[in-house]
Amino acid sequence: MAKSKYEYVKEFETDDRLLRNVYILVRVDGKGFHKFSAAHQFTKPNDVRALNLMNHAARSVMHELDDILLAFGESDEYSFLFRKSTDLYQRREAKIVSTVVSLFTSAYVYYWGDYFTDSKRPLYPPVFDGRAVLYPSEVEVKDYFAWRQADTHINNLFNTSFWALVEKGGLTPKAAEIRLSGTDSKDKNEMLFTEFNTNYSKLPAIFRKGSVLLREGVPKDSDKDAVIPTLPETLPGSTFANVVVATEADSVSDKVSPAPESETSTT
Ligand code: ATP
Ligand code: ATP
Ligand code: MG
Ligand code: MG
Ligand code: MG
Ligand code: MG
Repeated sequence: MAKSKYEYVKEFETDDRLLRNVYILVRVDGKGFHKFSAAHQFTKPNDVRALNLMNHAARSVMHELDDILLAFGESDEYSFLFRKSTDLYQRREAKIVSTVVSLFTSAYVYYWGDYFTDSKRPLYPPVFDGRAVLYPSEVEVKDYFAWRQADTHINNLFNTSFWALVEKGGLTPKAAEIRLSGTDSKDKNEMLFTEFNTNYSKLPAIFRKGSVLLREGVPKDSDKDAVIPTLPETLPGSTFANVVVATEADSVSDKVSPAPESETSTT
């Protein structure tokens, strides 16, 4: 086809191809989910329907994009790790990030009614943002997931304590916040146990540790970087024993398991 005289405008597009041979990590996060969770009456501190819906949306992303090896989810966020050698969209950042975010968001809405069974769709369209980060080696990849899991732990311990004080202890949110200020994780565990008869470590692992989706059937030798040799240590102190992995070569599991316990989480 002959070029039209307008075609020069294409030249205004910038080249956003990401550096080669490094890990691409894409994280999506819900916009204003503090409000969204209140509007949809999420159970506090953890609505398991919402977590399962997030996991389903992440699975949809992994089904579509074969080069994602691993995903970790907590709260309103999900992180996707691409293989180093991925050539998806020639590594164009905008294409990769927008495709992940768009697919994640549409799947979240598409499967909404399967989890929030008393409504067909959310009250208004949820929004997720996304970013790509490059990590040069497995050291940073491992620390990245340790960082997100530490965040899961810290937030969940705080939220569990906060909502115990509000819902069971009858405190106002303000008073609960004051009560918790300056407490460390030991104090919170102690308070939950003695005042609310709650053994924190016995709460569902999906709340305390987040969720992991792992692609199984990645070729072992043919493409070295496709294997995640450090995976058992990706989340420190873990054995990965309780991670459910995909059973088919090109799919991810329908089951989602909590991420293993992290030893690095401290508050
Ligand atoms: P931002 O737009 O800056 O991301 P945000 O309101 O989404 O703001 P986040 O820091 O992303 O804030 O936190 C997400 C919030 O969504 C949590 O603090 C919590 O209130 C709520 N939330 C997310 N998932 C759940 C869940 N499964 N159960 C209960 N509440 C949830
Ligand atoms: P890519 O993923 O590279 O964008 P694509 O298949 O989406 O590939 P496009 O160049 O974006 O290709 O073209 C979109 C195609 O979608 C059109 O060629 C047409 O076949 C189809 N399409 C889009 N909108 C309509 C419509 N309203 N009615 C009929 N066909 C449509
Ligand atoms: Mg955010
Ligand atoms: Mg958010
Ligand atoms: Mg968040
Ligand atoms: Mg198109």
